[in-house]
Amino acid sequence: MHKILISSCLLGNPVRYDGNSQNIDHPLIRQWQNEGRLVSVCPEVSGGLPVPRPPAELQIVKDGEGENIQVITIDGLNVTQAFGKGAAMALQLCRQHQIQMAILKQSSPSCGSQQIYDGRFSGVKVPGEGLTCRLLRQHGITVFSEQTLHQAADFLSTLTPHRI
Ligand code: SF4
Repeated sequence: MHKILISSCLLGNPVRYDGNSQNIDHPLIRQWQNEGRLVSVCPEVSGGLPVPRPPAELQIVKDGEGENIQVITIDGLNVTQAFGKGAAMALQLCRQHQIQMAILKQSSPSCGSQQIYDGRFSGVKVPGEGLTCRLLRQHGITVFSEQTLHQAADFLSTLTPHRI
C-alpha cells in the first residue's frame, strides 16, 4: 500500500510556530488515515526547533557563488541548519516507507509547495516552495498541499501497487 507523507499540523497536532495546529477535517484525509496510509512529520520540530518558536521566513542571499537560501527568524536568528535537518529527516521517512507523494501545508517555510512568505515578514506571499518541499521534489517525490487534495487523490490512483 502506498503511504503518504503529511504535515503533522494538518492532522491537528499543535506543532506550528504559534503552538497551534492547522487541522483539516476532510473526507480524503479521514479515508487515508483509516487506511493507515498517513505518515506525519513536522520538519521544524524534527530539526530540533521548539513549540512555540519565532516565525521564520526564507531569504535569498546572493553572493559571489550565486544564490543561497537561508531561513531567518523574525528576531534575525539564522535557523537554516535546523530547517535543513528537518527536511533531511522528512526525506528519510519517505525512503523508509517507500513514499512517493506528500501533502504539505501551504505557505510554510518548510512545507509550502506553491507559495511562501516573501522573507520580509510583511504578510505578503510570493510563488515559491519551502525547504522540505524542495528537497522532496529534488528526490522525485510529488508534493501536494491541503489545497490540492483531489489532485493528490488522482495521483494516488495512478501509482502502481507495491509488490509484496
Ligand atoms: Fe506544519 Fe510543516 Fe510548519 Fe511543521 S513545519 S508546523 S508540519 S507547516
